[in-house]
Amino acid sequence: MTVYLNGEYLPLADARVSVLDRGFIFGDGVYELVPVYSRKPFRLAEHLRRLQGSLDGIRLANPHTPDDWRARIERLIAAQDVADLSVYIQVTRGVAPRDHAFPKDTPPTVFMMANPLVTPDAATKARGVCAVTACDDRWLHCDIKAISLLANVLLRQQAVDAGCAETVLLRDGFLTEGAASNIFIVSEGTLVAPPKSSRMLPGITYDVVLELAAAHGVPHAVRPVAEAELRAADEVWMTSSTREVLAIVTLDGKPVGGGVPGPLARRMDGLYQDFKRSVMRA
Ligand code: PMP
Repeated sequence: MTVYLNGEYLPLADARVSVLDRGFIFGDGVYELVPVYSRKPFRLAEHLRRLQGSLDGIRLANPHTPDDWRARIERLIAAQDVADLSVYIQVTRGVAPRDHAFPKDTPPTVFMMANPLVTPDAATKARGVCAVTACDDRWLHCDIKAISLLANVLLRQQAVDAGCAETVLLRDGFLTEGAASNIFIVSEGTLVAPPKSSRMLPGITYDVVLELAAAHGVPHAVRPVAEAELRAADEVWMTSSTREVLAIVTLDGKPVGGGVPGPLARRMDGLYQDFKRSVMRA
């Protein structure tokens, strides 16, 4: 597999970073994950805009312009055998003697790899998945896509330990998001999503789902979702670039709605798949 490191395209096994990289030492960096369909990056401008927001959030200068990023990403995609990929981009504050303070005149480390894109299979979609809830004990900059993901790792493992697919997070009695996804509910026929804030990552899939809802006349609202409303919801979905639109049918061992993917989840997944295909044809 060909990866990208600081301007070079090289085999994964030859990509080397110093142990003094601040990504390794402090988790001092940000990342992005761009799904690629038929070698076409999905919503690349939006992903690059979110990357800029993350870099601004940690006060790290963007080493490349959007056009420059696009060219590098396209070259990385062209070097792969597979056409459907997830391109992982990571930028850290570079290599420097260990000291919390920002190093001066240190170039960032830029790493990219492209892995085969694995989305839920038809059987998983038809069945739906189970999730558990947990107290959202992350920091208050969850809108920054930081590589320091220890809290998310520990939270997601709670789901894995329970044989489930995701951990749904609650902070101060309100839904924030999943450990690695955004969460939507359907309540009285309306699709409801929590508003963007520093308590959640602004998902690219989240935006697509709300756009599709608006375009296809699906009643929807963006407003805080209280824990009681989550637990009483007719449908609960998780969304992300890799999970797409996936129905959560069991929450903390209790069925959501009828315990099967609801009609709106199935409809939105169909709209999302159609939208993806239109991008691939573009
Ligand atoms: N929230 C968190 C914490 C995530 O890790 C992800 C996945 N990157 C998302 C939400 C969903 O974002 P996207 O739709 O851009 O994949």
